[in-house]
Amino acid sequence: MSRSLVIAKFGGTSVADYAAMANSADVVIANPNVKVVVLSASAGVTNLLVALAEGREYEIRQQHLMKIRTIQDNILNQLPENPQLHQDIDALLANITSLSEAASLATSPALTDELVSHGEIISSRLFVEILKAKGMNSIWFDVRKVMRTDSKFGKATPQIEEIKQLCCAHLKSANFLLPNRETIIVTQGFIGAESSGKTTTLGRGGSDYTAALLGEALDATQIDIWTDVAGIYTTDPRITPTAKRIDEISFAEAAEMATFGAKVLHPATLVPAVRSNIPVFVGSSKAPEKGGTMVYTTNSIKSDLPPFRALALRRKQTLLTLTSLNMLYAQGFLANVFAILAKHNISVDLVTTSEVSIALTIDTTGTNTDGSSLLTQALFEELSTLCHVDVEEDLALIAIIGNNITSTKGVAKEVFGALDDFCIRLCCYGASTHNACFLVKNSDAETIIKLLHQHIFE
Ligand code: ADP
Ligand code: ASP
Ligand code: MG
Repeated sequence: MSRSLVIAKFGGTSVADYAAMANSADVVIANPNVKVVVLSASAGVTNLLVALAEGREYEIRQQHLMKIRTIQDNILNQLPENPQLHQDIDALLANITSLSEAASLATSPALTDELVSHGEIISSRLFVEILKAKGMNSIWFDVRKVMRTDSKFGKATPQIEEIKQLCCAHLKSANFLLPNRETIIVTQGFIGAESSGKTTTLGRGGSDYTAALLGEALDATQIDIWTDVAGIYTTDPRITPTAKRIDEISFAEAAEMATFGAKVLHPATLVPAVRSNIPVFVGSSKAPEKGGTMVYTTNSIKSDLPPFRALALRRKQTLLTLTSLNMLYAQGFLANVFAILAKHNISVDLVTTSEVSIALTIDTTGTNTDGSSLLTQALFEELSTLCHVDVEEDLALIAIIGNNITSTKGVAKEVFGALDDFCIRLCCYGASTHNACFLVKNSDAETIIKLLHQHIFE
């Protein structure tokens, strides 16, 4: 009999309250191949924990703590009586209180990660009890035993080989090989641990990435991402209600969408999935009967790969224009600029150049858990030794994602023809056959998305 192992991840809204958790538990129970469950913190909890880690004054801390307690108590109080569970959750909430006191005296990225990890720890603990109350055997597993990362607190990098070895040692029991599942392993997304055992996080929205990393390490046959939308749409259905669900999409297209801002998948999610060729499903935990989107290799896609697949929007873009007359006919200028950016841990996103200037945007995808800016004073000081630096903020990046975009006639007319009334600040086209993208004023972005969607897809 062939072995099936599905990793199911549920996002914040899918574990927001008792009803959402109960729906998610039903989804897990309905598919006997789901043997590992990865959870986010209940919706809103991570934001509150991040705020606590910023070291607020007493009154504000009390308000945040009360809100967290209310969210968790609402779930706890609907579960069957369980004094041990109450005691455990109380102890976790007491930890949050003392860590937030410590943060108010002196905060740090390591302390932030330790504090923020409590969101996922509590939601997963509660979910185990919901499954048990529904008659399903399940155990709580501390993902930090296997999710080894480096020590970049706030946005740690997973150590793939070590994760595989640790998963082998701690999780890959014969259980997975049994066609009949006996116990469901419930664990946390987003958090990990560096080699000395200190808690780290993978950056905001990182639970999708955890699911994919575990999927890869455990040789999963599928990774299911359960969220609040019934799949991946032609654009964010919150912005454009007429957006259509894409039933199947290639890894390459979905990865471009995630990179260019489609929040439905964390940008790194598809990296392990592509590497190990594991199909990814995206669906709604509230309405699983609506189906969802399958993401897999181009070869597995039965329908045509269209030139236009989707539109993505990424806000909060910062454009740096670096100007220097020394650039004219010079060699190595770009290399020097990029070396400074790399030294300051900046990953460049879009680049265009002219004779004496470079315009570039900064990649802020999967931002630091503590929300701190990557653009520091030290960076600007070092760049200004080479060139004059202009900074423009309040921009948004719009990406058109599709296939063979650079070899399809009429793409530019189709896209820019619809945008007569808007200024395009910067445009990148030609580096990838899967996208064309441009920067616009943030205040124009939603109108442009709606207009382009209508023009291209409706
Ligand atoms: P979760 O908490 O489950 O991880 P997220 O809020 O991170 O959920 O992601 C789901 C959200 O992604 C949706 O509510 C939707 O607004 C947004 N989204 C952005 N682009 C798309 C898209 N192309 N298709 C579907 N959802 C999208
Ligand atoms: N709870 C974390 C966040 O809000 C991780 C996640 O939900 O994916 O960013
Ligand atoms: Mg998410």
